[in-house]
Amino acid sequence: MKITGYKLYQVPPRWLFLKVETDEGIVGWGEPVIEGKAATVKAAVEELMTYLIGKDPLRIEDHWNVMYRGGFYRGGPILMSAIAGIDQALWDIKGKLFNAPVYQLLGGACRDSIKVYSWIGGDRPSDTAQMALDCVERGFQAVKMNGTEELQYIDSYDKVDKVLENVAAIREAVGKNIGIGIDFHGRVHKPMAKVLVRELEEFKPMFIEEPVLPENNEALKEIAALTSTPIATGERMFSRWDFKPLLAGGYVDIIQPDLSHAGGITECKKIISMAEAYDVAAAPHCPLGPIALAACLQVDATAHNAFIQEQSLGIHYNQGSDLLDYLVDPSVFHYENGYVKIPQGPGLGIEVNEEKVREMAKVGHQWQNPVWRHKDGSVAEW
Ligand SMILES: [Mg+2]
Repeated sequence: MKITGYKLYQVPPRWLFLKVETDEGIVGWGEPVIEGKAATVKAAVEELMTYLIGKDPLRIEDHWNVMYRGGFYRGGPILMSAIAGIDQALWDIKGKLFNAPVYQLLGGACRDSIKVYSWIGGDRPSDTAQMALDCVERGFQAVKMNGTEELQYIDSYDKVDKVLENVAAIREAVGKNIGIGIDFHGRVHKPMAKVLVRELEEFKPMFIEEPVLPENNEALKEIAALTSTPIATGERMFSRWDFKPLLAGGYVDIIQPDLSHAGGITECKKIISMAEAYDVAAAPHCPLGPIALAACLQVDATAHNAFIQEQSLGIHYNQGSDLLDYLVDPSVFHYENGYVKIPQGPGLGIEVNEEKVREMAKVGHQWQNPVWRHKDGSVAEW
């Protein structure tokens, strides 16, 4: 079997899809993208694919090593997202060839379904209590929200109060058994993170995410010592080597590698297994499209420490095009009582509606995140 060609589709709302073709007619799909840099990742995929044309798609581990080690320079969001999408497509091909879902090829399932959470609020949290209640009424048992707006290194206590009021209102609306994930989004610097994690503890969050930027991960130890709330991070970390100091240092309770950013199925399975050895849970990051989510679910099926899965249905980024729009059979991601079943079809377990993908690639997108500024004119973390 040989790889004969590929196609890349930049589709709304902010995604990039890859189709890898073979001489046996089997095709595989991947989602190589970093939000806001789709065209840059596309160029990286094109460079990597020059090596893969004519190669056997089944030698995934070797191809991964060539893509990672063979270029001398390695790591980071662009290269690791390009590898991720190609890796997903190769696993999809392998599963289709053997007529088995990818999780069977990874050792088989240790669960039949996984809990999912729904996003509430937008970039700037508001109306979150009502949205949380709507989610609970649709069966979700967990929600996640942005915790704050922009926050200076040292900021005022009225902003802290606003965060607390939002979370208090959600907790009161949904009761004590619904999980509330609070994403600091790397917007918060260490001094205010210390204040917030302590104050938020009384609302019993499910976790606090990216309390500080990943380049400041050494601050997590000091922050985690102030609270019993689990600390999550990892969506902006891209390999086993990025996660190594975080796990070895005991700085984290939940890792959140992204299957479309951190080297794909091959690498994230290993990252999550590393975390298991430190008694650290996994909640793969996935505010992305259906191929990325399918890849997540295949790995979740086999990972004992995966406890919840992010998914993008109805997320604030998906206006106009949503998670299910590019699938032949959207029922594969049917959420019931806050859980989704592991897809059982061959490969990634989904069927991409290529006609729709082609049509929407003509529309395309140039999505970029906003640039925020503080009152004094300095750039704020988004
Ligand atoms: Mg996040």
